[in-house]
Amino acid sequence: GSVLEIKNLHVSIEDKEILKGVNLTIKGGEFHAIMGPNGTGKSTLASAIMGHPKYEVTEGSITLDGEDVLEMEVDERARAGLFLAMQYPSEISGVTTSDFLRSAINARREEGDEISLMKFIKELDKDLEYLEIDQNMATRYLNEGFSGGEKKRNEILQLMQLKPEIAILDEIDSGLDIDALKVVSKGINKMRGEDFGCLIITHYQRLLNYITPDFVHVMMQGRVVKSGGPELAKRLEAEGYEWIKEELGIED
Ligand code: ADP
Ligand code: MG
Ligand code: MG
Repeated sequence: GSVLEIKNLHVSIEDKEILKGVNLTIKGGEFHAIMGPNGTGKSTLASAIMGHPKYEVTEGSITLDGEDVLEMEVDERARAGLFLAMQYPSEISGVTTSDFLRSAINARREEGDEISLMKFIKELDKDLEYLEIDQNMATRYLNEGFSGGEKKRNEILQLMQLKPEIAILDEIDSGLDIDALKVVSKGINKMRGEDFGCLIITHYQRLLNYITPDFVHVMMQGRVVKSGGPELAKRLEAEGYEWIKEELGIED
């Protein structure tokens, strides 16, 4: 498995410091959850890891198996095995889901070792069925006119097809009804294994009833202020975030 190491990460947007020293290590085989109130920098962390140009890293480091991620272009990060499911996936007009997936798979393979069309279709059909996605979605333009639920399922389809080393899933549960939530969770759980590490960002504990994280982290005001096991998520669900603020002496 791979190791993603985030050390003392400081990130600014338009000269405003959002992340103020985040430390986090995610290893293959581990599922981590980050929870926290709105506006505390969870999506900022995801965007910084994937290299969104608007997010400026002013201090600290991100490495994948010792390689400097911050030195990599966005597409290099994906090729190195990082995957980001965004809170708001973008629509790509003119590119079908199927074409997108096939070129993304091939981008991670050596030249001359591209996946055959037959094998691609076979594996795509298998995953479509597993995620209860309509066959014809593969031939539609990526995310164009997709409902919120379809977009999220599509993100998990990408995850299953691309088999990244480390995935960051930002609010993959937002806007999902219970059936879609179950299917999305089923897909994520199927990825479990030594060669897959995952960071699940969520505002609600609900998702964690279906995906049991090994570690739960609480982010507040741009820092990871508390870490624990699944029981921490349960306590947050029951009691909210106030007790952490009191415990740590954090002012609003
Ligand atoms: P969370 O995901 O925890 O809700 P975000 O990372 O989205 O938090 O936001 C953290 C802070 O950064 C907020 O104050 C938000 O307004 C600000 N922010 C996030 N993205 C941008 C952006 N693209 N431009 C300006 N400010 C932003
Ligand atoms: Mg938010
Ligand atoms: Mg967010």
